[in-house]
Amino acid sequence: MAKHGNAIIKGIEIDEVIRLLNKAYADEWLAYYQYYIEAKVIKGIMKDAAIAELDQHAADELRHADMVAQRILQLGGTPLLSPQEWFTHTNCGYEAPQDFDVVAILEDAIKGEQCAIDTYSALADLTKDKDIVTYDIVSQILADEVEHEEDLQALHDDITEFVDHIKSTMK
Ligand code: FE
Ligand code: FE
Ligand code: MG
Repeated sequence: MAKHGNAIIKGIEIDEVIRLLNKAYADEWLAYYQYYIEAKVIKGIMKDAAIAELDQHAADELRHADMVAQRILQLGGTPLLSPQEWFTHTNCGYEAPQDFDVVAILEDAIKGEQCAIDTYSALADLTKDKDIVTYDIVSQILADEVEHEEDLQALHDDITEFVDHIKSTMK
């Protein structure tokens, strides 16, 4: 534990920061797996573009899990040790893909990103001016989650517009 590094945290309980970071840590692993498996099962039009995006996001979520775990350790906490705990700590839950169609998969993933944005936005509000290092980490992750939502939404819109165009030419 970073003794002096933690002494600069003010106006907030370190245990509370650790507790909330562990919830975000659970979310990141579940998001990682959701993207990982979606990229495998996805079907339909323009799926290669979607797979590239899903694979890239999976890698980002795993990197986020690592960033959060490192911070939990610095604060003197322990990252969740068992995958079973991911389900009891998660904010955003886990949506096993039911419909493998590219549009349905992208819609599920967009919902997940919107939840991640809420989670990190709340963590940024909580740590601002109190725990500068955690604030910096959650702000970096928040920027990635905003980018993720935008990437998925843009791809979703391209695909649905393309499908609508094809339908209109077949009339
Ligand atoms: Fe993430
Ligand atoms: Fe994300
Ligand atoms: Mg992306």
